Amino acid sequence: MKLVETCKLLYNRKITVSAGGNMSVRINDSEVLITPSGRNKGMLEPEDMVLIGTDGSVISDGKPSIEHKFHLALYNANMDTGAVIHCHPLNCTALAVRGDGMRCNITPEGVLLLGEVPMIGYFTPGSQELVDAVAEYASSKAMLMARHGALTQGRNLEEAYNRMEELEFQAQLQLLVGDVDDLPADEIEKLSRM
Ligand SMILES: [Zn+2]
Repeated sequence: MKLVETCKLLYNRKITVSAGGNMSVRINDSEVLITPSGRNKGMLEPEDMVLIGTDGSVISDGKPSIEHKFHLALYNANMDTGAVIHCHPLNCTALAVRGDGMRCNITPEGVLLLGEVPMIGYFTPGSQELVDAVAEYASSKAMLMARHGALTQGRNLEEAYNRMEELEFQAQLQLLVGDVDDLPADEIEKLSRM
């Protein structure tokens, strides 16, 4: 799976809209390819992507996403992170605006694919405070960002994408089903060990 295909899939499935969000993939230990600043994610071509160093340097032409620093924080914290996806899916963002925590223990898939999903506080997009807040939860597969959106990481683009798609599904499910119980604790425990 390539970065441009991932962006089109996110856009076509309405997981990201217009120029919102930013997606990246690790090329090697010291280089990351990331979406450019301010572009519609359904209209990107391979040559639009920007090559940056894990030290924050911009290697190729183009202007990287304003949020490239929190992508780098995750790559630098986890050598096995191969891809990072940040976007503003409608249902995830609804939970993040309401300040409702993400519940991933109401179906087996939520437990298996996501585990605990923290909600970080609200910080201005592009700020160092936002980078620090993301870095604090660098070991999470996924997180919500208060009044902003969602973030996932994975060993490759497919894994990061699957986690984002599942996160948005779980958010929609949570909003649809209302006040239901979690799976039984012993079942959550069993699934967590799988
Ligand atoms: Zn954002």
